[in-house]
Amino acid sequence: MKFLYVLLFAAVLTSCKSEKEQPAIAESEPIADNEMVVQQEEKFEITPISHATMVLNWDGTIIYVDPVGGAEAFAGKPSPDLILITDIHGDHLNLETLQAVSTDKTKMMVPQAVADKLPAEFDAQVDVLNNGDTKERYGFAVEAIPMYNLREEALKFHIKGRGNGYVIEKDEKRVYISGDTEDIPEMRALKDIDVAFVCMNLPYTMTELAAAKAVVDFKPKNVYPYHYRGSEGFSDVNKFKGWIMKSSASKDIKVVQLDWYPNKE
Ligand code: ZN
Repeated sequence: MKFLYVLLFAAVLTSCKSEKEQPAIAESEPIADNEMVVQQEEKFEITPISHATMVLNWDGTIIYVDPVGGAEAFAGKPSPDLILITDIHGDHLNLETLQAVSTDKTKMMVPQAVADKLPAEFDAQVDVLNNGDTKERYGFAVEAIPMYNLREEALKFHIKGRGNGYVIEKDEKRVYISGDTEDIPEMRALKDIDVAFVCMNLPYTMTELAAAKAVVDFKPKNVYPYHYRGSEGFSDVNKFKGWIMKSSASKDIKVVQLDWYPNKE
């Protein structure tokens, strides 16, 4: 059906052209009708690998977030154009995995604390982003967002300024990756987020309720709970979803659950 509309539209264009006087055209090749009407559909594909680790295919650009788990975790996946790393802990940074999955063309964006742990072989491909910095690659603007703990007893896990959450933006689509954080004001103040990945695990990040409250504040169109395995097992993602759905302020927020723990551990 869509194809038929395209054909009809092309026919209308052609007939309009023949009735009007042709405007002067610069010495470039005329554009074929089909090129004029075919609109490129945006591609945004999320592949959860495990816990905090994922592969994004955004219009053909391959972005790995916190690649850990060794080469086998990424078997069959295209090589990354860009790798984003949020923090120094083993569920976010793994040197062997980086060496296995990156190519000479792969760019990496990391906080200084991660850069300090990378060997010199990566120097040419690493951009250091501190909280608040923005860097462009492949037409994507990547902004480093703070991530840190608020609860007194959890302050030791993530001190402010060390790690980065990220907002990736292209063509006005904005994707937020929280990293390991609590419901900090910088998260609550985010604007126009289309897709948000939000952590919730104890004792390292925050409760389902704190995550829900923050999400209701910044109202992403779609929220993906991720990073929800804690020291005492998994957080209850259904509880999180229930709180979001109960709030009248969040009727336009869609909670999307993916399987982040295919091995159940
Ligand atoms: Zn973590």
